[in-house]
Amino acid sequence: MKSAKLINSRVQIVDIEKPILDCKGAIIKVLGCGLCGSDIVKIKHATCDNESEIRLGHEVVGQIVEINSNTNYKTNDIVVLGHHYPCFNCDFCRIGAYSMCKTFKNSNIYPCGFSEFIKVDENHLKYTVFPVPKNIKYEEISFLEPLACIIRAIKRSGFSLGCDNSKSNTLVLGLGSIGLLTAQALKIYGVNSFGFDINEERKTYASKFDVFYKKDKYDVVFMTSGSSKAIPTALEHVRDGGKIIVFSSIENDDGYKNNDLYYREVSVIPSYSPSPDDYKVSYNFLSNKKINVDGISTIYSLDNLSSAIEDIICGKIFKAYIEI
Ligand SMILES: [Zn+2]
Ligand SMILES: [Zn+2]
Repeated sequence: MKSAKLINSRVQIVDIEKPILDCKGAIIKVLGCGLCGSDIVKIKHATCDNESEIRLGHEVVGQIVEINSNTNYKTNDIVVLGHHYPCFNCDFCRIGAYSMCKTFKNSNIYPCGFSEFIKVDENHLKYTVFPVPKNIKYEEISFLEPLACIIRAIKRSGFSLGCDNSKSNTLVLGLGSIGLLTAQALKIYGVNSFGFDINEERKTYASKFDVFYKKDKYDVVFMTSGSSKAIPTALEHVRDGGKIIVFSSIENDDGYKNNDLYYREVSVIPSYSPSPDDYKVSYNFLSNKKINVDGISTIYSLDNLSSAIEDIICGKIFKAYIEI
């Protein structure tokens, strides 16, 4: 079967053995997979030593073709899924730092989302797999994992559903696909959200999603941009006593100056990857169409994965969904 692999720093489509169901879990025929910002970071930072271990693609929509599971899933079910689940038992899980859990880091789909078939295990079926509703396009529901990351970031900023957040003002830095979803998700939490990007075209596009910029000081700034300007821009916009939520790695990271944070009592809170509970909220928002993801993705074939990667890197498109 076809599968994407990094070879000599280039993404290539190679022919490998189809995975075998040798444990509880399922074999899934991949129908499509979103290209994540983290895939791009992995490609950029790959070295000769680690590239054979890099798995690209984890925002999968597919059809179960073989299953051995105690869950209710069965053959032919169309599902959407993410890749990591925690153990719920270790010291990281005890303090809610699920994405730091060893089980979380080691759990993954096999061989990778940009493949004709993948194997998932029983815990994936329990915690990170959801049925695809009939009325939604595959490229839209494939936002399950990225939106779950956003839900975690919003949670870590202190907002929860059902609370009165109507006086809170937030700014989303970076209006790529993650920024557009974050600004919309914040509104579901009842929070006033605004957005900023140095790219004027992106700002104009964001206005179609009711995301606008206002020069102001904000209670919380969400950093979805990996630009080296992101840190000074966040510090310029955050209110004294406010929070900066980081959920993107930053190129040429110059860091924060201790005294910038200390005298202004600004908190910097990172949010790395979603827990099973965040998946549930994300699934609810997407399947009930509470978030507009229409037209954000550009569709490519697996053979054109390299062009999708180039188009994302040069900022030509917001998000790529690879049909397999
Ligand atoms: Zn992702
Ligand atoms: Zn754990």
